Amino acid sequence: MYCFPLSESEEERILSFDPGLVCPEELNSLAFLECMTHLFPDMRGKLPGIFPTGEGHKRLPVTSDGYCIYLGANGCVLPRNIRPWYCLLFPFWVRNRKIIIQQSPVCLACKKMSALPSLLAAFGVTREYVRHKYLQLRQAWGLGTGGA
Ligand code: SF4
Repeated sequence: MYCFPLSESEEERILSFDPGLVCPEELNSLAFLECMTHLFPDMRGKLPGIFPTGEGHKRLPVTSDGYCIYLGANGCVLPRNIRPWYCLLFPFWVRNRKIIIQQSPVCLACKKMSALPSLLAAFGVTREYVRHKYLQLRQAWGLGTGGA
């Protein structure tokens, strides 16, 4: 899912690895706001103020096929420590203080496992890790620390 915005700090992190990065600016469309509201229901009502109509947000560049430019034959080519927060969280998310699994047709692990403990183990992450990354993402995107 590439609707997620790229904050300035995330962009700077990637630029340290790829100085040629040029992030496209996307308009804060209704579809984008709906997507963000789905991700952050606790921010409903506040999101239009954070992502005003008529203004834009940056996102990762994609190929003509719609794939992230950093997707290589064996997965992401970015070193883990500089990937965007959303990527570091995927396929996990936090909603109403609960860790959930995002439904994704492209995640093979999600297709094989539906139980949270086994998926966390498959990705080699803990609940604490997920909560921490989610908080870092919220802070970077200017969404405060609620909901974790
Ligand atoms: S994990 Fe890597 S390839 Fe996938 S969207 Fe994030 S930056 Fe792009």
